[in-house]
Amino acid sequence: MDNKSNFIYNIINQDLNFKKYTIIHTRFPPEPNGYLHIGHVKSIYLNFNIAKYYHGKCNLRFDDTNPDKESKEYVEAIKSDIQWLGFMWNGEVCYVSDYFEQLYNYAVELIQKGLAYVDELSIYAIREYRGTLKKSGQNSPYRSRSIKDNLFFFSKMRNGEFPEGSVCLRAKINMSDSSMIMRDPVLYRIKYTTHHRVGKSWCIYPTYDFSHCISDAIEGITHSLCTLEFQENRRLYNWILKNISITKHPIQYEFSRLNIKYIITSKRKLNLLVVNNIVDGWDDPRMPTISGLRRRGYTARSICEFCKRIGISRQDSYIELSELESCIRDDLNKHSLRLMAIINPIMVKIINLPTGYIEKIPMPNHPNDCSMGIRYVFFTQEIFIDRFDLDQYCKNSRFPKLTIGREIRLRHAYVIKVDHFKKDTEGNIISVHCYYDPTTLNRKPIDGRKIQGVIHWVSATKNISAEFRLYDKLFIHPTPDIVINILNIVNPRSLVISHGFVELNPIFSNNPGPYQFEREGYFILDYQYSKPTYLVFNRTVTLKKSNKSIRFIKPQ
Ligand code: ATP
Ligand code: MG
Repeated sequence: MDNKSNFIYNIINQDLNFKKYTIIHTRFPPEPNGYLHIGHVKSIYLNFNIAKYYHGKCNLRFDDTNPDKESKEYVEAIKSDIQWLGFMWNGEVCYVSDYFEQLYNYAVELIQKGLAYVDELSIYAIREYRGTLKKSGQNSPYRSRSIKDNLFFFSKMRNGEFPEGSVCLRAKINMSDSSMIMRDPVLYRIKYTTHHRVGKSWCIYPTYDFSHCISDAIEGITHSLCTLEFQENRRLYNWILKNISITKHPIQYEFSRLNIKYIITSKRKLNLLVVNNIVDGWDDPRMPTISGLRRRGYTARSICEFCKRIGISRQDSYIELSELESCIRDDLNKHSLRLMAIINPIMVKIINLPTGYIEKIPMPNHPNDCSMGIRYVFFTQEIFIDRFDLDQYCKNSRFPKLTIGREIRLRHAYVIKVDHFKKDTEGNIISVHCYYDPTTLNRKPIDGRKIQGVIHWVSATKNISAEFRLYDKLFIHPTPDIVINILNIVNPRSLVISHGFVELNPIFSNNPGPYQFEREGYFILDYQYSKPTYLVFNRTVTLKKSNKSIRFIKPQ
């Protein structure tokens, strides 16, 4: 079992040793106000794996207490993303909205105990009265209302007799507590929005702090795991459970959020990118959402491996994006078929081959795993190679490039030698004319001469047209989550589209990939844009951690 040495497993081991619990019960509590992102996976991986490891249970509970921003679409997307990651929740899906009646009754109980009151201060006044970290708060003039009046006003709130924002229910704790959270927090507010599950049956909605601890207790959660920003809320969590007549009292533990450089992990901000059409929906391959990563070609296995590698702690930090990329590279290196594709095509004509020449050359599908079999690739008189394999277009490369008189090997095929280039009137190369050495099919030249360099290629007549979508970071800022307007830091080159060719291979009709296109990276067919006669590929990741953008500089 992965990751089991982290501090949360240690706590659970101790609890089990002391026979505090017989069964371990966790939960994953997303708010259905957007799609899940890579940050959520850290929590999913922790909660579901704890349940698996201890033969316990993990609930999926939707925190659906804010109907303005929530929808069924998000509920369904979240469920399917969790399953795609390979996890399954215990029993039926839970919803906080299933507990609205119970929550209401617990709120009434607090009022009856003199521990909650209906406040008529506006939201702004409440903020004002709350004070600051240095200055203690002030009691609301409505704080001393009688229990009877509070019960009466709270039932009026429920019955829709107050306008939105005019009153709320607050806990009566301590307006001069050192923690702002304990200064009479709001427990219920009025909202007339239709809820995606309960429709118009409620017009008062519990806050996160009030509903979360009680939902945990109702479900019998033993360890309520959340991120560090809720550390202070733990006191309120315990205060509420202590003051209502509920028998279970789960314990909240916090761990650090996942932050990755150049990536945003906030549903609200990701939604901004969607509504402003910066991206092509929540599943745009540049999005750090589960659905975006999936469309990009990330496997569930690689995302889980990433969570395993980063571990769980209470230390806040930023993870390098390259760590995520190295997980998908390692995975695809093992499991993906090798094929050839030309992203920036330039024609090569082989002078000493007859017109219409076709040869089928066998090639391994994986260099180290012969169980992946072989395929046949068409070798013809005219082929495409990549423009950037010409010396003219890539002067900075460390690798030998094609130039007049130099020999180079075509991958798994023959050695060719450039005789001349055909150029247009402006001096741009439009085709390369070569001789090939027929004795060099997948073997060294007989005379022992050295050939430096291997390039990939695709037949110019037996191929499939394809579009390649090459992705880069979505933001130019390393910590976009602290930038006020993220729309100002979008990388204008986060998507570069190139047109080219892939080898003629029937596999594309029944397997979307990801594939390794030799020397180019890992690619997956895009399910939305791809057609049988025009394939569209998303580049999942480049082959090596390198700045490949040099390949996209337009030739002068
Ligand atoms: P967002 O700002 O994206 O809406 P959130 O925390 O408000 O994030 P929820 O849907 O309420 O989103 O989160 C569900 C669970 O996922 C919570 O337990 C939360 O702590 C956890 N979670 C969310 N973001 C991260 C993250 N970046 N790293 C680790 N856990 C996270
Ligand atoms: Mg939230």
